[in-house]
Amino acid sequence: MIKDNLLNLLESIPDYVNLVAVSKTKPITNLLEAYEAGQRDFGENKVQDMADKASELPQNIRWHMIGHLQRNKVKYIAPFVSLIHSVDSIRLLTEIDKQGKKYNRVIDCLLQVRIAQEEKKFGLTFNSCSEIINQNNCTHVRIRGLMGMASFTDNQAQVESEFNSLAQFYKQHQEKYEWDTLSMGMSGDYPLALTCGSTMIRVGSLIFGERK
Ligand SMILES: *Cc1c(COP(=O)(O)O)cnc(C)c1O
Repeated sequence: MIKDNLLNLLESIPDYVNLVAVSKTKPITNLLEAYEAGQRDFGENKVQDMADKASELPQNIRWHMIGHLQRNKVKYIAPFVSLIHSVDSIRLLTEIDKQGKKYNRVIDCLLQVRIAQEEKKFGLTFNSCSEIINQNNCTHVRIRGLMGMASFTDNQAQVESEFNSLAQFYKQHQEKYEWDTLSMGMSGDYPLALTCGSTMIRVGSLIFGERK
């Protein structure tokens, strides 16, 4: 079932697009099924769940932190996390840098931008995003691009304009900052995200089924 969902999804997206299988709230057995079908990138939104699952699953899995991250919890994932999608403050970035130094690695990050018009708690404005990339002098963090979530709505035009605003900002800075990752698109809106220029989609329920 999971395997079929995964293979069908992979068939429907271009090769250059990276698929993060969002496995939050799902049991290890579900992740293993996707792993055995070839999936290596998994997304979790809670530090503890990610650390627990990482300790039980194969070492060559790439773990993506997609949920809000508190500074005091960075240390638990710093040794192994592959990409943090949810950097939403300079203080968080500085803490990730500190932990990167401690573990002698450069940690890949995306800046999360608030593009949805609806009330959403987390994410930077384009202005604060600009400030961070201009000031950034971290040595153990590498900002590889941006992440955004569109509004949860049936209004396709709105979702499209939100994705386009992120894609435009991304394109304006991509060359100068050597970005290669635009993370946008989930189960309900990934086809639209791809037409707007996404390079990485984060899909959960289409692969693993609805969450309770
Ligand atoms: C849960 C989640 C997803 C996946 O959502 P689905 O609708 O199940 O595909 C993607 N991105 C983030 C940030 C999430 O929290």
